Amino acid sequence: MINSSWKDRATEAFTPNYRPAPLLLERGEGVHIFDAEGNQFLDMISGIAVSALGHNHPKLISAIVEQTKKILHTSNLYLNRPSIELAELMCASGFFDGVYFCNSGAEANEAAIKLARKYAHDRGHNERNEIVSFVGSFHGRTFAALTATAQPKYHIGFQPLPEGFRYLPFDDVSVLEEGITERTAGVIIEPMQGEGGVRVPTPGFLKSIRDRCNEVGAVLIFDEVQVGVGRTGHVFAHQFENVEPDIMTLAKGIGAGLPLGAMVATKEVGASLSYGSHATTYGGNPVACVAGKVVFEALSEPSFLANVTARGEQLMVGLRKIDEKYECFQEVRGRGLLVGAELKPELHFDAKALVGECRNRGILSHIAGLQVFRLAPPLILDESHVDTALSVFESSIDKLMNDFSPVA
Ligand code: PLP
Repeated sequence: MINSSWKDRATEAFTPNYRPAPLLLERGEGVHIFDAEGNQFLDMISGIAVSALGHNHPKLISAIVEQTKKILHTSNLYLNRPSIELAELMCASGFFDGVYFCNSGAEANEAAIKLARKYAHDRGHNERNEIVSFVGSFHGRTFAALTATAQPKYHIGFQPLPEGFRYLPFDDVSVLEEGITERTAGVIIEPMQGEGGVRVPTPGFLKSIRDRCNEVGAVLIFDEVQVGVGRTGHVFAHQFENVEPDIMTLAKGIGAGLPLGAMVATKEVGASLSYGSHATTYGGNPVACVAGKVVFEALSEPSFLANVTARGEQLMVGLRKIDEKYECFQEVRGRGLLVGAELKPELHFDAKALVGECRNRGILSHIAGLQVFRLAPPLILDESHVDTALSVFESSIDKLMNDFSPVA
């Protein structure tokens, strides 16, 4: 599928921290991607929940092109229109009153963790510095975000990690009272875990955390880097449960393919990110922000989010039908267009093998852990695309089940 010299050149030229599939991607159109040899793939992962509007979206591309002709970068020494307009659009869509722009999810979480500590510090609570996160979470690879990521496999080799982090089991209300205390500056949680296996907490869990944070005076941070910006069928995933945080982090879909992250906060908490306390050179980059504006404008069309909900349902119903036939899934779960199908542990193949088989048949997908087959397609896909994807999933599973059927 790829001229092997490109793979060899990549192996030579890159540090070895990635192991990309042997596909040299060249262009995209809508929900399809084409490789260098002209092979077409249906994109069911959107570059890990990023390409929310698909590829070569006319409005998105023209906004970006027009902005590139005006000015690429201003820095925060000066103002630019797109960043102000995007921040205003964002503030009109949620609980928050202030936006800090950055470039990635890890950076947004780094800012959120710093803000939680600074807010406590500003109130004279220097002993209140603990950050609580949940087992199976993923918050990014920079040091504080990595430390908040409560999965030991990501920590190996990077110790000593920053101090003052504490982990609680995900989706267990019984530990909240003991785990979230007067020493807690902030609690960070994904309203639905993505990398940790597409795990939806029991209704009420987020509310219980909110209540406990209120009791002890800790701030609540929702990491919506993967699940925010329409992915779940709501503008923000926490709107499913009507529980509002004090701080929220966004990235991935907000830039629709350009590097853009944001940390947003209520007026009261956000005020602690006082002048000079935090910054990044590229924050509020005008080109990334015009992309964000197109995304937020798309989200404001009611049919857009209704499609996400309908396609997500269609996908989950279809996967459950496949399960009725093959008995291959432990569980199919998700919200909107972030869907995980957990393979039964006794199967003789893992999620990676299923991803590979789908790729051979023209579908791009991904895993979340060893056992979970993950789908996060562009939010613009239609009914026929989901039908196509489901038929490929079925033929891929059929092949794997037959290849690996246990010896009698
Ligand atoms: N938070 C969540 C929930 C994520 O899923 C990710 C990335 O997968 C991150 C943070 C880190 O984002 P980035 O890779 O842009 O730093």
